Amino acid sequence: MGKHLVVIGGTAAGLSAASKAKRMDPDIKVSVYERTGFIAYGACGLPYYIGDLVKTEGKLADFTPDELKEKRDISTYIHHEVTKIDADSKTLDVYDLRKNEFFKVPYDYLVIATGASPIIPDIPHVHANGVFFLRTVEDGMAIKNAIKERNVKKALIVGGGFIGLEMAEQLSFLGIEVTIVEALPRLLPLLDEEYSNAVKKNLEENNVYLHTGTTVSEIISENGNVVGVKTNNGEIFDTDMAIVSIGVRPNSSMAQNAGLKTGIKNAIVVDEYMKTSDESIWACGDCVQTFNFITKRETYVPLGTTANKQGRIAGGNIAGDKSTFKGVLASQITKVFDLYIASTGLTVDQAREAGFLPEEAKIVKKDKASYYPGGKDNNIKLIFDKNTGRLLGAQAIGSESIAGRINLLATAITAGMTVAELSEVDLVYAPSVAPVYDPILIAASQAV
Ligand code: FAD
Repeated sequence: MGKHLVVIGGTAAGLSAASKAKRMDPDIKVSVYERTGFIAYGACGLPYYIGDLVKTEGKLADFTPDELKEKRDISTYIHHEVTKIDADSKTLDVYDLRKNEFFKVPYDYLVIATGASPIIPDIPHVHANGVFFLRTVEDGMAIKNAIKERNVKKALIVGGGFIGLEMAEQLSFLGIEVTIVEALPRLLPLLDEEYSNAVKKNLEENNVYLHTGTTVSEIISENGNVVGVKTNNGEIFDTDMAIVSIGVRPNSSMAQNAGLKTGIKNAIVVDEYMKTSDESIWACGDCVQTFNFITKRETYVPLGTTANKQGRIAGGNIAGDKSTFKGVLASQITKVFDLYIASTGLTVDQAREAGFLPEEAKIVKKDKASYYPGGKDNNIKLIFDKNTGRLLGAQAIGSESIAGRINLLATAITAGMTVAELSEVDLVYAPSVAPVYDPILIAASQAV
């Protein structure tokens, strides 16, 4: 009989770990406990499910528990919450949420992939009916139902990060009047100011109202239902629904109670093999602290891309591999109406703080040959070290084509390229696809 690997959390990180371990060592018995009713779902797809681009919640998930058992011989237990880790006896307390029963599960290896939860602001009536947080499929279903049941005409989004912006787009497409309230003085403050102003303009052009430098101080509720919000400036915005999206915090309290080491924002500390401070416990995804690829400094960057990679590494190492996680560039992208927004690597401030002498090169260039119809602007900013020329970061806004370009720039950063080397890369050209001097080559040449 093989060893027993138990995984807590059945989505990106947890199932990557489970699948990799089982693939490498078919003798391992793998059990996954998941407290929601769904496994293998992409939370990233939730805005598009709410916006009805994805019609049913089932489509968000790659596998049902039965399919996972059949295809990968992994047992998953949904509606099961792990409530305690006893690291000394290598036993978990598990609560069956449907049967209302507790039982114990022994493990040889444990993977904690409990993810993160939305931050709930400490303001009056934050749990009124019609106030939502978006993380799980059940959250998405509740929002989608409420839009119909409450006949939502106006929605207020608290927080103008990527999730808030994606929700603003999707709710607008449903014909709902959307207002975003953002506490910071400008949207996406890690972006170049000009770029964040362009995002603001884009929202306004699409009739989304934006209030920056504004904090929601109270949810106004009548008979337990949200009817508006009050801000720190004393303004009142009427609304039929509020979606609060002001960031996440790692789900790490159980790990902390088990004596595992935690770090930034109480995220679980792991080494590069994704192992925790306990010899038999690995952790991965949004519940762990990670480190920056360039600076090697500790950081907390909750992203699906990272969660999947870290899960594979944890699972592989449990099955006898010796692979390491190489760190994050925090590469990310989103689309808001027709504007794509992407970044990778360090900002100027982060680079300076890490001891570099950062400089930036900024260009605007069409994504096709200048004479070819339909070309759209690509705004690209490179951040590089003046002393060595090393590329440290990049930001871009513009057409869909910035996705490929930011990926190329992330690759260049990973390879340790200088802007001079980047300016000489042999990139593709055809009038209908890209200009003869790609925007990246122009930006890199400007930096040299
Ligand atoms: P989670 O996905 O949070 O999964 C953890 C699981 O553990 C949950 O299902 C939870 O129910 C379960 N769990 C927790 N505690 C217990 C317990 N005690 N017992 C049993 N089960 C438990 N990232 C990107 O890279 N790109 C995107 O475009 C993007 N868009 C996003 C859009 C939205 C709306 C949201 C919410 C997130 C988005 N993300 C995106 C972030 C991405 O979804 C997360 O980084 C990713 O899901 C993290 O995976 P995880 O497995 O670590 O954690």
